[in-house]
Amino acid sequence: MSIVSINPATEETLKTYQPMTKDQALAAVQVADTAYQDWKNRSFSERRQIMLRLAQIFRERTDEFAQLITLEMGKRIEESRAEIQFCAEITEFYAEGAADFLADEDMAVEDADAQVQYAPIGVLLGVMPWNFPFYQVIRFIAPNLMAGNTTLVRHASNVPQCAEKIEELLQEAGLPAAVFTNLRIPHEFVKPIIESPQVRGVSLTGSERAGSTVASLAAAKIKPTVLELGGNDPFIVLEDADVAETVKMAVKGRMVNTGQSCVGSKRFILVESVAEAFTAGFKQAMSELKMGDPMDPATEVGPLSTESAAVKLAKQVQDTLDAGATAILGGDRPDCQGAYYNPTILTDVTPEQPSYDQELFGPVATIYVVKDEQAALELANDSSYGLGGSIFTQDIARGRRLARSIDTGMVFINQPTNSQAELPFGGTKNSGYGRELSKFGIYEFVNKKLIHSP
Ligand code: NAP
Repeated sequence: MSIVSINPATEETLKTYQPMTKDQALAAVQVADTAYQDWKNRSFSERRQIMLRLAQIFRERTDEFAQLITLEMGKRIEESRAEIQFCAEITEFYAEGAADFLADEDMAVEDADAQVQYAPIGVLLGVMPWNFPFYQVIRFIAPNLMAGNTTLVRHASNVPQCAEKIEELLQEAGLPAAVFTNLRIPHEFVKPIIESPQVRGVSLTGSERAGSTVASLAAAKIKPTVLELGGNDPFIVLEDADVAETVKMAVKGRMVNTGQSCVGSKRFILVESVAEAFTAGFKQAMSELKMGDPMDPATEVGPLSTESAAVKLAKQVQDTLDAGATAILGGDRPDCQGAYYNPTILTDVTPEQPSYDQELFGPVATIYVVKDEQAALELANDSSYGLGGSIFTQDIARGRRLARSIDTGMVFINQPTNSQAELPFGGTKNSGYGRELSKFGIYEFVNKKLIHSP
C-alpha cells in the first residue's frame, strides 16, 4: 500500500510514496551495519563537527522545515518553528556533551584498577510518531550517533515528507551514508528488521499498543528497548495557587500542539476552594481561542494531524458524554473542512467513562474537583499512565514535597510538563521506560564495559 502525505487542514493529497520491499529493508540493515563498522571508530571530534553542521542547518533553514511540518501534520507554524529550534539545541547539546558523558570512568576498588568504558552497540531501530516529526527523530538519533551507533528510522506513515527531509539534511551535514536511514516500510516489516542480528536495540515513541508489540519482538531476541508512550498528565491546582497565572498555564499545557502531546496537561485536578474561579477563567480563555489555518501565525487552534485522529477523539468524547459526563465547553467538531475539533472541557467524569483513563489526544480537558491535597494526589495517581504532571501552588517547598508522591517520570511546579535538552524525559507505568534527552539519554544504548586490572 502506498504511503500518502495529506494536508490535514485542507484534506489535499500532497505526495504519494511507494514503500520499500522487505528485501530492500533487510538490505538497508546490512548497509547500516557496514556503516557502523566505520562510524564506531570515528572520534568524538569528527562526529561533533557533523552534528554542529546539522544544528547550523536547522538554525539557517528553520522556516523551510517548519512549513513542511505544518503542511504535513497541521502544527501551528509558530510551534513548528519552535520545534526546529529545539532540534538545533538538542543536536548542539549532544555534540558538545557526548565526549564528557561517555568518558572512561574510574571505579573505586581496593588493590586493583577498575574502569567503565562506554562502547557503542551497533545498529538501532527507532519507530517514531508524527506529533513532533523532527524533534522525535532528533531526540533519538543525536545521542546515539554521538555514541557511535548507527540508526534506522521507521517514521509514522502520515509524515513521509518530513522523514525524507531529515535523511536529506543529515547527508547535507556530512553524515556518512547509512549512518542514518529512513526506512519507509509497513508495520509487518518491523518484525524481520528487529530480528536481524545486526539490529542491537529499539526505541519506540508512540502508543501503548505499538510499544507493547515492538518491545515484545525485541524481548524475544534479547534486545534492549526504550519506550516513550502515552500520558494522562495531572495538573493539580492547590488552594494557594495564583489562579490567573495558573489559567494561562492550563491553556498552554492543554493546547500545545493542538492537544496532541504526550505530556500535554490532560486531567485538571482542582482543590475545592479554587475550583470555581479556575474553571470560569479556563473556560473563558479556551472559548476565546481563534481556530484557523495553521500557516497563519494568528491562529491559536489548528487541525488535528489526520481526519481519523479527529474521528477517534470525537468518539471518545461522545462515549464519555453518553455515559453521563458534561461538556461545559465544546464537545463536538466545527462545521468546516479539515481535521478540526473544538476546544472542549468535560466535567462530571467518572472512572467508568472512557475519558477517565484513556488518553485524549486533542484539545479536550477533563476537570475534577477534590477536597484537599491528599485527595488530589490520590486522583493524580489513579491512572495507568505515569509520564509527567504539574502542581500549582505559591509554596514551592510544598509543591516539591508533594511531587515526591506522584507516580510519574517528571513533575513540574507551576508550569506544565515540558522538555529541555539538558533534562531527562520519560515515564513510568504504562507510559514506558528508559529516558531520553540529558546525559541519561546517551546511556540507554551503550555497553557499560568494565575493565579490571591488577
Ligand atoms: P502509534 O500509532 O503507536 O504510532 C507510533 C509509531 O509506531 C508510528 O511510526 C506507527 O506507524 C508505528 N506503529 C504502530 N503500530 C505498530 C506496530 N504494530 N508495529 C510496528 N510499528 C507500529 O502512535 P501515534 O498515534 O502515532 O502517536 C501518538 C501516541 O504517541 C500518543 O499515545 C502519545 O502520547 C505518544 N507519544 C509519546 C511520547 C513520549 O515521549 N512519551 C512522545 C510523543 C508521542 P504508523 O504511523 O504507520 O501506524
